Amino acid sequence: MREAIVVGAGIGGLAAAKGLLDAGWRVTVLEEASALREVGAGVALGRNALAALDALDLGDAVRAVGVDALLQGVRTAQGTRLLRATEFDSSSFVGIHRTTLHRILADAVGDAEVVTDATVVRVHPGARPRVELVEAGEQRERVADLVVGADGIDSVVRAAIRDDLPVDPSGSTCWRGVVARRDDTPPGATQWYGAGTEVGIMPIDGDRVFWYVAARARVGTAAPDEHSAAIAAARGFEEVVRAHVSAEPEAPVLRHDLRLLPTGLRTFVAPGVALLGDAAHAMLPTLGQGAAMALEDAATLGVLAARDDVDELLGAYDALRRPRTQSLQRLAYEVYRSCLAVRQPVLAALRNGILHLVPTLAAEIATDWMLRWSPPRR
Ligand SMILES: Cc1cc2nc3c(=O)[nH]c(=O)nc-3n(C[C@H](O)[C@H](O)[C@H](O)COP(=O)(O)OP(=O)(O)OC[C@H]3O[C@@H](n4cnc5c(N)ncnc54)[C@H](O)[C@@H]3O)c2cc1C
Repeated sequence: MREAIVVGAGIGGLAAAKGLLDAGWRVTVLEEASALREVGAGVALGRNALAALDALDLGDAVRAVGVDALLQGVRTAQGTRLLRATEFDSSSFVGIHRTTLHRILADAVGDAEVVTDATVVRVHPGARPRVELVEAGEQRERVADLVVGADGIDSVVRAAIRDDLPVDPSGSTCWRGVVARRDDTPPGATQWYGAGTEVGIMPIDGDRVFWYVAARARVGTAAPDEHSAAIAAARGFEEVVRAHVSAEPEAPVLRHDLRLLPTGLRTFVAPGVALLGDAAHAMLPTLGQGAAMALEDAATLGVLAARDDVDELLGAYDALRRPRTQSLQRLAYEVYRSCLAVRQPVLAALRNGILHLVPTLAAEIATDWMLRWSPPRR
């Protein structure tokens, strides 16, 4: 039986483990945290993410708990409609808490050996790639036929392919919270664009609502009370936004600076090694596609893992995944530059005027391109 080591037990790593198990591999997942858990709030899963989950036999489990989060379009801070929703496929968006999605994935990899408190420090590519790690305080080494680097934006595995790719801090930050559903909660995922500030609200499982507030901010700053800081950042938005952001959160409000990887990777693979998810193509969340891309990567790897030759598998994986994910990385950055990064009110008003003129059909075609994906044939 061929052996794979997956580094990282986030959404991407667990999904990759599931795909490899289904293809008949023995799988070990190494996770540096002391327990399997996902940090975060809500995530919107579009048609492409659901197709990836279907390929991993998990689509129905996710649809059973997630809620319909059909895109409702984009509004100005005061609520004027800018871009209409893409109404052509009402079954295409599911809103779900990230911890719920993570639990479904974790439950599905029971046949893998999952090792927590295991920090990978270096990966040596080769026909039998070697992994150096610190496991429960002890230095150890493991070998396998394939190592999958699903260790997020600050990936250590990435150094086996390229070690000089700087992570870009972007200059914006994002607060996220989960609150109980309210009478005025929009029926699907809705965004509001202000000047240098953006808010999104989306229903998720458990009769809850996920909100985020993204704003320009100095890198690495923290507020004494992040919930109050998020409320202050959303001050100029319409009442429905302020009501959701200021409602009592079910857990402390999270704050993360928004970071991205440049598209400088010429390959996602080295002998015996593949990068997946944020480790390969961390993108700004402006398109809501980061987790979806990790799921697409994992489903693709799962299909290709049936091939006998690992080099051929890796070549096909790189050819299928790199062009698409790097296009979305670039697009997410362009959306960021023309929306969240626009701080001056006059320029924001100009942007709103332009967005207002974009025909619904054009928005639908762009969204359809992004969400149109299916796994390779087995
Ligand atoms: C504000 C915000 C909103 C977002 N909204 C959406 C959305 O609506 N839809 C969407 O699709 N995406 C969204 N995303 C993006 C999405 O969250 C990420 O793209 C996705 O979680 C990446 O998953 P991953 O498994 O690749 O990496 P991660 O989730 O970062 O997981 C990496 C794992 O590896 C472990 N690890 C790291 N280093 C090591 C090591 N050396 N050894 C062992 N283990 C290690 C970590 O502990 C972690 O468990 C959003 C992101 C942000 C910041």
